[in-house]
Amino acid sequence: ISFLQSIPKAELHAHLNGSIPIQILQELASEYLSSTSARSIPDSAVQESIQLLTTGPALDKIDDFFLLFPAIYALTSTPDALQRVTRAVLHDFFDGDYPQCTYLELRTTPRSTSSMDREQYLLTVLDEVEKYSPEQTGLVVSLDRRMSAEVMDECVEIAVRLRSRGRRVLGVDLCGDPTAGNVQAFEDAFRRAKEGGLGVTMHIAETTNNTPEETLQLLSYCPERLGHATFLNDEAISIVLEKKMCIEICLTSNLLCKTVPTLEAHHIKQYLNSNHPISICTDDTLPFRTSLLAEYALLLAIPPLGLGLSEDQVRRIGEMSLQARFR
Ligand code: 5GP
Repeated sequence: ISFLQSIPKAELHAHLNGSIPIQILQELASEYLSSTSARSIPDSAVQESIQLLTTGPALDKIDDFFLLFPAIYALTSTPDALQRVTRAVLHDFFDGDYPQCTYLELRTTPRSTSSMDREQYLLTVLDEVEKYSPEQTGLVVSLDRRMSAEVMDECVEIAVRLRSRGRRVLGVDLCGDPTAGNVQAFEDAFRRAKEGGLGVTMHIAETTNNTPEETLQLLSYCPERLGHATFLNDEAISIVLEKKMCIEICLTSNLLCKTVPTLEAHHIKQYLNSNHPISICTDDTLPFRTSLLAEYALLLAIPPLGLGLSEDQVRRIGEMSLQARFR
């Protein structure tokens, strides 16, 4: 573990509400269940999700994973709760028993709730992020594929405006249910994000339901980085290699969501073989019960438990992740 801790590395793909330490979520759940104010979802749904996250079996498929978020969102829908979870996530990455990385890009989807609008949501998260130095952390604004074009435009407009005021918004991401939305409708949002100086990353080709046409359309928006990129066809791979788009690799997430059958079959191998930029990431430490150090440990571990890479190779992967950060 001391080797893994010692190498400089960036976590570039961590979803805020998927990275909440379980103790904080349990605290928020018990406050929610004992409060007398109106509930956005039934107590039983919160109890079931907490149970699943705490002691439940591993997820069965990627759809089960998305079903966890309504309960998590019910618990993080006030500025106070959002501030607490953001603080706890940053603490876990930097100041916990095992500091995880040199640099963290945290990403989150701006939500409008009964007690805050999307801009307040982002400001609440940014206030916590900016307690750390720019060399340690910054924010990526996630755009959910389930958003309407108007909401996506609003999120990009806020992200660009906050950045122009000097707030630490570094990029945008496309995330959410991989089968939702029509990607042609997203073109304008990504163009305006780029014009506003933001980096672009996208969850792409995450499942077999994502068609090659959709993937090529998203690549035409010129993202600098790609999340997962599990099911790229040859045409898409040649674009990715030529443009040197960094692949955000989330090993445990892919295995638990069963989009990749084994580490041996993981697409990381083709990128390692061609010395293509990658970055090792956690995705969602809460449901996947992982950490960045655990993901790096998988690189070193002997097959079939891990990929059996050398320390030099792992150090080089850490360097690549730092080079792919947004500015
Ligand atoms: P948040 O953006 O609310 O801070 O983090 C949770 C959200 O991130 C989820 O609602 C989901 O939209 C998105 N997310 C988290 N993990 C994944 C993933 O592996 N794939 C996709 N497509 N979206 C994800």
